[in-house]
Amino acid sequence: MAKIMIFIDGTWLYVNQYLLSRRHGEDFRLDYGKLPRVLAGLVETQLGNTHGDIVRTFLFGSNARNYDPRDDYLVQARRDFFDTLKEFYHYEVEVFPIDYKGRRLRKGDRHPDDEFFPQEKCVDIALATAMLYYAAIPNAYDIAVAVIGDRDFVPLLQHVRRLGKRVAIASVQGSCAAEYADPKDPLRLKDFDIIWIGDLLDQLELKAVRRQVDCQSPFHAGPTGFTTTEVLRKGQKYYCPACRESFRRQKEENLRYLPAEGKFEGAPSGVIQEGQISNIVQERGFGFIRNERGDYFFHFSEVAGDTDFDHLAVGDTVSFEVDIDPDPRNKERPAGKASGVRRGPAKEAADDHPPGPEASSAPAAE
Ligand SMILES: [Zn+2]
Repeated sequence: MAKIMIFIDGTWLYVNQYLLSRRHGEDFRLDYGKLPRVLAGLVETQLGNTHGDIVRTFLFGSNARNYDPRDDYLVQARRDFFDTLKEFYHYEVEVFPIDYKGRRLRKGDRHPDDEFFPQEKCVDIALATAMLYYAAIPNAYDIAVAVIGDRDFVPLLQHVRRLGKRVAIASVQGSCAAEYADPKDPLRLKDFDIIWIGDLLDQLELKAVRRQVDCQSPFHAGPTGFTTTEVLRKGQKYYCPACRESFRRQKEENLRYLPAEGKFEGAPSGVIQEGQISNIVQERGFGFIRNERGDYFFHFSEVAGDTDFDHLAVGDTVSFEVDIDPDPRNKERPAGKASGVRRGPAKEAADDHPPGPEASSAPAAE
């Protein structure tokens, strides 16, 4: 039996889904639940049907921080995706923040003269660190399956192989470094034929399942029944499109836009903060948290875990994650934005939220 670990460059795979869609002929959605098993199956076949035991699947990705609040739904969707990987498929997910300095997420939504370029930090280094770290631990894995395309990983794969581990590369045609695809493999990077994800689309397509759900917003108007293909996590509430649109507007109204040149000392990224509820507007479904860094707006749909929005009161201690830093210099709208709000001090929340590398190696804002 061979122990397999899978290391996915999540950002790279995400941005290259369009290549898979093009090949598939329509919108292709990758089933991340099936991906590890399908890749392991191909490795097993090439090994002569030795059974492979997938001991870990890692995905390294990033999400926006300090973005324009109009794009909040995109950030939420990304966060839901990462949570789904963890809760449904038991991926090890490491997410690194990208500071958007108050801007829109999509280039097309930004001012044409704005030369801002979002800087992704740490993702490739984190993947390399994990693969090498486990390669150096006796018996942690026998085979590393790298789901990658960027050339940067060449030295990593060479070193992992020098430690006596086998390496398989799975990639996407059209976004794969020539060194990985070369069957002669002059740089000695892999022990298996390259796996093209595009050849596996029939096995990897996420099939949409239609289900009946009820909108759970207390502010919902009209009949609550809807049909959706969305996958809801355990305990995640369904909100209908109309309610989500009104949440979006409400968040937008309650947040200032960061000045384009906004530069101020924020909290370190990825660390759970602690504060006290300073204001709560039950009938409109939002509130504010205060701590030494400033005030944070939060919406009831972002209260997490067992915490019930209806039972939060001014003065309660809560823990939360920071989406947007407060800007105390902005006199009109100095508040930032919080999510993942839970009753109780940060220490308790951290216990069911093991700190990833993002907790200790957060990139500094440029
Ligand atoms: Zn609704």
